[in-house]
Amino acid sequence: MAEIKVLPQNIADKIAAGEVAERPSAVVKELVENSIDAGATSIQVEIEKGGVKCIRVTDNGCGIPENQVETAFLRHATSKLRNIEDLYSMSTMGFRGEALSSICAVANVRIITRTESEEEGTLMELSHGIPSPKESIACNKGTIMEVCDLFQNIPARMKFLKKDSTESGYVADVLGRIAMAKPNISFKYVCDGAEVFQTSGDGNLKNAILNIYGLEYAKGLIDVDYEKDGVRIFGVCGKSDLARGNRTRQTLFVNGRYIKNHVIAKVAEEAYRNSIMVGKFPFFVLNINLSPSLVDVNVHPAKTEIKIADEKRIYDTVYGAVSNALMGAVKDEPKMEKAIPVRENYAENASVSQIKMKIPSFSQRVREEVPAQTVEKFIEYTVPHKEENVFCEEKTEDVFDFIEEKEEEIPYKVVGQVFETYVIFQQGEKMFFIDQHAAHERFRFENLLSDYKAKKKFGQMLLIPVVMNLTTSEMDVFRENQSVIEDFGFEAEEFGKDGIIIRQSPITSSDEEIKGLMAEMIEGFSGGFKNSVWDYEEKMIDMISCKYAIKANKKLTEIEMDDIVRKTLELEKRGKATCPHGRPIKIEFSKQEVEKMFKRIV
Ligand code: ADP
Ligand code: MG
Repeated sequence: MAEIKVLPQNIADKIAAGEVAERPSAVVKELVENSIDAGATSIQVEIEKGGVKCIRVTDNGCGIPENQVETAFLRHATSKLRNIEDLYSMSTMGFRGEALSSICAVANVRIITRTESEEEGTLMELSHGIPSPKESIACNKGTIMEVCDLFQNIPARMKFLKKDSTESGYVADVLGRIAMAKPNISFKYVCDGAEVFQTSGDGNLKNAILNIYGLEYAKGLIDVDYEKDGVRIFGVCGKSDLARGNRTRQTLFVNGRYIKNHVIAKVAEEAYRNSIMVGKFPFFVLNINLSPSLVDVNVHPAKTEIKIADEKRIYDTVYGAVSNALMGAVKDEPKMEKAIPVRENYAENASVSQIKMKIPSFSQRVREEVPAQTVEKFIEYTVPHKEENVFCEEKTEDVFDFIEEKEEEIPYKVVGQVFETYVIFQQGEKMFFIDQHAAHERFRFENLLSDYKAKKKFGQMLLIPVVMNLTTSEMDVFRENQSVIEDFGFEAEEFGKDGIIIRQSPITSSDEEIKGLMAEMIEGFSGGFKNSVWDYEEKMIDMISCKYAIKANKKLTEIEMDDIVRKTLELEKRGKATCPHGRPIKIEFSKQEVEKMFKRIV
């Protein structure tokens, strides 16, 4: 690595000052990025007590020469940036030269480092920024950075930190994402002496995902590799069953740097439109590679938000990459043994190709508001979808299946959506309104109930566990019913004197929603579910499904509307025509009734 120099003031000023060491995970991110820039192939991160007591990052990178160790800790000291032009063509992770100086201002730091050419390494300690004399030390080539007693000298900052377990969850999240960006580097994460994950560093992203997220994720991946107009998108996207109720498992990298960009994430989600339930978000890890001169990473202190020149080109390519990958996967998939009755105009991949034909260019949609589906717009097609659908799966074992296939179905025509709440469709001589919220509640309910009955696991491990305080009496109810609560997708245990830690939840939603659901369940048990006409199992499932259902006032796409109509009709055949709380899903007007209203007939 090049010699370390202090940046000229004018460049320093151009770089917006920002807080880099906001919490332990931010410190880990900066230290690990330095290790990556140092060319390390193996990086180990150990933390104690959420990282507040100690963070230790050990790498086998190039090390820092003895005579430059102090310089590295000075403000705006960097070996990575020389002039302002460099700022716009960055390919390294660091460049502000302020991470080490910021970190050592709020912690006690110890560095042990040795370069290839040095016989002995250097040890230096800094107590809240004040360095002690350097010492020689025998050590491996590379660097060990130890950051201890973080924020001990800033009680106000300390107060903002969450419980240790939450902070170590944030570290897992940050490190997991970096490990996916750099599958050719082996990362190991150790929390309070226990190994959380270790990636092999064999260059294979799927192996890294297996190590970080587990087998369920590794099995449901589709490769993405696509290039257009000088922009390359590669990585993986998850099959629809990996979709979750929030976006925490979506990862985007631009030139190897983890970024947050809702528009790009939405564009990728667009490609899933026909195959994922409303309110669910697909899993993906996508690398966007483009000329560094098109990216300005300097807009955000933690460098996670970036500005991209020519965004439309990126959006187009991301959409193309994901939809191509999904289309390829549909082709490769073995045909379902017994699908829903296939209608004549059904074409292979029709749902996928239709999305491309019918929906205006996605950049138009993403930049502008998604146009409302107008009532005048008729949808001619009635395409059955191939996406995962528990109703179809169930049907294959259903005795009525045989009869249904024989029965001539009257085709329906989706007319559109009104008040962003009701879907209108026509079938034969009748027109129908579906309450989309009621319908969706019923769908979720049926899905979850069938999963529960089939003893399918439907909880999701939370990357960041949620800690919840309970009163003494709530705690008693929790203890008594813990195993039953776990049957419904939670994994939770006592935590401290008056709290529980939730590691797995049936909903992947905000912490507040997860806690809300747990509170509701506990309350249900303390009331003994006595006042309910249902058995408690249905009540529990209802609590969960309510958290999932799409709310009214949501614009739906044509495909979503079609999906709702089709599923509503399926359910009706099984006698489920109301939402779980008994409100009707569908109301109808006959042609005759309408004609009467217009006084065409008496
Ligand atoms: P930046 O990464 O923006 O250059 P930092 O304050 O993070 O600024 O680091 C300052 C300098 O210290 C880096 O430019 C690099 O030369 C050196 N450095 C920091 N960490 C390491 C490491 N793990 N291995 C080798 N050099 C390092
Ligand atoms: Mg750095």
